[in-house]
Amino acid sequence: MSEPALDSASNRARIRRVNEAPVRGEGRWVLYWMTSARRLDWNPALQRAVTWARQLGLPLLILEALRVDYRWASDRLHRFCLDGMAEHRDRLEGNRAAYYPYVEPTVGAGKGLLEALASPAAVVVTDEFPSFFLPRMVAAAGRALEVRLEAVDANGLLPLAWPDRDFTTAYSFRRYLQKALPEHLEADPGARPLVGDPLPAFPGLPAEVRRRWPPADDALLKDGGFASLPIDHHVPPVPFKGGRRAARARLERFLEEGICGYAEERNHPDAHRTSGLSPYLHWGHISSREVVEAVLDREGWTPADLGSETHGKRHGWWGLSTDAEAFLDQIVTWREMGYLTAWRKGDHESWETLPEWARATLTRHADDPRPHLYTREEFEEARTHDPLWNAAQRELRRRGVIHNYLRMLWGKKILEWSPHPRDALEIMLELNNRWGVDGRNPNSTSGIFWVLGRYDRGWPERPVFGTVRSMTSASTRRKVRLDEYLERFGD
Ligand SMILES: Cc1cc2nc3c(=O)[nH]c(=O)nc-3n(C[C@H](O)[C@H](O)[C@H](O)COP(=O)(O)OP(=O)(O)OC[C@H]3O[C@@H](n4cnc5c(N)ncnc54)[C@H](O)[C@@H]3O)c2cc1C
Repeated sequence: MSEPALDSASNRARIRRVNEAPVRGEGRWVLYWMTSARRLDWNPALQRAVTWARQLGLPLLILEALRVDYRWASDRLHRFCLDGMAEHRDRLEGNRAAYYPYVEPTVGAGKGLLEALASPAAVVVTDEFPSFFLPRMVAAAGRALEVRLEAVDANGLLPLAWPDRDFTTAYSFRRYLQKALPEHLEADPGARPLVGDPLPAFPGLPAEVRRRWPPADDALLKDGGFASLPIDHHVPPVPFKGGRRAARARLERFLEEGICGYAEERNHPDAHRTSGLSPYLHWGHISSREVVEAVLDREGWTPADLGSETHGKRHGWWGLSTDAEAFLDQIVTWREMGYLTAWRKGDHESWETLPEWARATLTRHADDPRPHLYTREEFEEARTHDPLWNAAQRELRRRGVIHNYLRMLWGKKILEWSPHPRDALEIMLELNNRWGVDGRNPNSTSGIFWVLGRYDRGWPERPVFGTVRSMTSASTRRKVRLDEYLERFGD
């Protein structure tokens, strides 16, 4: 069976064969198993599945499932994810591409569904995601399926498999990107995979499959009918919707109101200049390529604007306004460095992956007396002596995110007020991943490990921190505007 042609080496690098099983000529459909790039646009994985369907002249089935047994599953995460699934169901109603939303009602109930949908398939395509339980889940599927399984990387502008080395600083990664990225910006981003010649009509699911794994109905998708699911009901939904529509609305608001002044104002919580896109990027409801292209369009950018003498410097790289360059540095350099680290270091959440100097200095200072000591519960319930820290923790509990500058302070204080840096690591991971609607992401790990010294350099030595950078609430209060923030999230 010949493979569909690809437009570029860049898009070839996004595709990984997970198993050695063949493409089956007698297959009845192509299955796209959507697991992290949970979107119908700007999605190279869906594009790949559609290309296979066209090449083989077969219908396309999209399976989007939500399990109940993953760590930190909660009302918060379910609601956000289901908002996206409800949109997909509505949008694909009557479409030739069939959509199968499945929400697991009890632990293990979904077992066997993937195999049941894959066994009549000619080929299965899924998403590549470098962290949380997803790499293990995809590897297990590769072993179980008797049909070819491909994982397609729709995570960022640079394919994860492209670089052949690690990057330990933003500077070195930026320098690499400045040379490598132009080629990838030319590759087809899969912006509208479902537009084009109609696919063959889907024949319908076997009755036995529908009976055993009933597709999610409106009660689950739209009406919040997850009270009986075995998930954490103490973490309530965030006060904003998930899904593409909400993501696009945020992006448009950011382009109109936020990006202007981003470089100067992004560190001030009261300025409301940041995009608020991290939850949507995490759940795959919007693609970073789409966001970057929207910024480039807004600035009337062409590849001829790219700077040629940038040598790893932030400014002058794209030839855009200072605000746009500052934003692209976050969503491209910092975001993709985190994804790449997760991809290249499977155990990127382990203490041992910290730079040697950071482990050594933190260990040397592990027995220093702490000015305050709190338990995980005290941190979680925002019961420290520090009103600013408590406000940041309350933002996390209520809104599922913390403003970036305060997220740094939040982590640094957990490091300072925990019995041992390894305890701090555990507490940060637990709180960030339980309450963060954007948690469990490669950037969760990036941020938390940055607190402990990753991607950073040594600073003057201090108690507890050693030569790892420290931060104080007093200087944060002096440096950034947060009166309104404290009013909103204060005691
Ligand atoms: C302790 C700690 C924990 C963190 N946990 C998470 C997390 O769970 N999920 C998460 O997505 N980010 C996390 N971050 C990184 C950063 O704080 C958030 O990405 C950012 O605050 C999201 O807000 P925004 O979308 O408004 O960002 P914007 O300023 O609008 O930036 C746009 C996008 O760029 C990326 N970005 C911005 N800052 C960073 C950064 N420092 N590192 C990597 N990517 C960045 C994000 O994808 C972000 O959505 C953490 C940082 C720290 C210090």
